[in-house]
Amino acid sequence: MDFNSKYEAVIGLEVHAQLNTKSKIFCSCSTQFGNEPNKNVCPVCLGHPGVLPVLNKQVVVSAVLLGLACNCDISGKSVIARKNYFYPDLPKGYQISQYEEPICLNGHLEISTANGLRKIGITRIHIEEDAGKSIHDADSTLVDVNRCGVPLLEIVSEPDIRTAEEAANYLMKLRQIVQYLDICDGNMEEGSLRCDANISVREKGSQTFGTKTEIKNMNSFRNVERAINFEIERQIDMVENGEQVIQQTLLWDADLNEAHPMRSKEDAHDYRYFPEPDLFTIIVNEIWKNEIYRDLPELPDKRKKRFVKDFNLPEYDSEILTLSKPLADYYESVIRETNDYKSASNWVMVDVMKILNEEKINITDFNLHPERLGKLINLINDGTISNKIARELFPELIKSGKEPDVIIKEKNLGQISDINVISRIVQSTLEKNATETNEYINGTEKIFSFFIGKIMKETSGKANPKMVNEILRQQLEALKAEHNKK
Ligand code: ADP
Ligand code: ZN
Ligand code: MG
Repeated sequence: MDFNSKYEAVIGLEVHAQLNTKSKIFCSCSTQFGNEPNKNVCPVCLGHPGVLPVLNKQVVVSAVLLGLACNCDISGKSVIARKNYFYPDLPKGYQISQYEEPICLNGHLEISTANGLRKIGITRIHIEEDAGKSIHDADSTLVDVNRCGVPLLEIVSEPDIRTAEEAANYLMKLRQIVQYLDICDGNMEEGSLRCDANISVREKGSQTFGTKTEIKNMNSFRNVERAINFEIERQIDMVENGEQVIQQTLLWDADLNEAHPMRSKEDAHDYRYFPEPDLFTIIVNEIWKNEIYRDLPELPDKRKKRFVKDFNLPEYDSEILTLSKPLADYYESVIRETNDYKSASNWVMVDVMKILNEEKINITDFNLHPERLGKLINLINDGTISNKIARELFPELIKSGKEPDVIIKEKNLGQISDINVISRIVQSTLEKNATETNEYINGTEKIFSFFIGKIMKETSGKANPKMVNEILRQQLEALKAEHNKK
């Protein structure tokens, strides 16, 4: 959106990524989403007196993986802290988090923007436990504490983001990375990836920041963009009217398309952080860090570059294909069967994606084994079937679960590539259409496509088009030469 060009927005995001570890961060309770309320609990995550938390090692590994993927410095020593506040869905009365010495510092991500690539700084990444969930209905509030103690990474960006679109791109990049690292499923609707946006506006060219507000409760990329644009507009209006922006937390209401101040004065909280006495300092020494580094999978940017280089794909194709890891994996499985990389890319980007969109499913739920798609492409390239027929056959291929060559045989869809058969069909077509044949002989070359149409119709589109073209041209030219001799 292009706001009043006098102003620019300053945006910093705080993202919470719910880790996909099997058990919680400080106890062995399950993290399974959607279980019966208040069942995934034990004295530790309920905060009973006298219990002792034990740190889940995988949470530290996940944090270091993400830190490395986001170009962060990994702290050799980092401190777990207690953040004190009262809330009904926080039975302990405090949240175990990190404060002064987080596990990762000083990173950045590169995002593409309208003006090319931009670096967005990452201030810190820390580990913490999630709180429970309050479910409000008409006259009561229910509390589900299953989520208490589910591990989170909090990723805090520098105020480097300038537009709602950049914020969405940054968030998408982050989601892509956590998915590639396989540490979080990135599902915003289910709340496994949550984003709070800090927003202020200032006059363009100004070096100081304005007062910021924070918006919470946006559960889709679209809502993040809409909420940020709403808030930028609201703040610009205020500044234009000589009003002062007050620092507060707003909640996004997706139905009303508006943000409203939260009733509680969250910003006035003093959390009285102090180092958690029940847990040790986290030590990530060089040896461990290097071990984790060795396990770092190929990240989206690198994979994209490899697709361009190794498979000679356009940037555009590589970008789309590597957007999600499962899609990129699917593509790479297709090209284990065929070496027509570009054709495979077209099939995945166009034909496969079309079906995913129509059926609103993910590639992981797509029924066609990638090997079969590879085979189908090979059958086109070796002339067994035409491109057109392959595309008609595609839905059936997915539904039937049969091998492409089996269906082709069953339905007798094989392309006619026998030179004798095609020659005969061409010859009889010319004989049956003597008037048009004479026109060609007398110089009306554009009549050529008339014969192609006839032959394709005669063969229900199965004649190998390249061969028909050549043989038809040969026969017509031969007739013409004979005619001119006379
Ligand atoms: P707080 O003290 O309110 O927690 P922080 O300095 O820790 O604020 O920053 C929290 C988030 O807000 C970070 O993502 C940061 O980039 C962003 N931020 C800080 N100042 C501003 C500002 N003036 N405008 C927009 N975002 C800001
Ligand atoms: Zn527990
Ligand atoms: Mg802060």
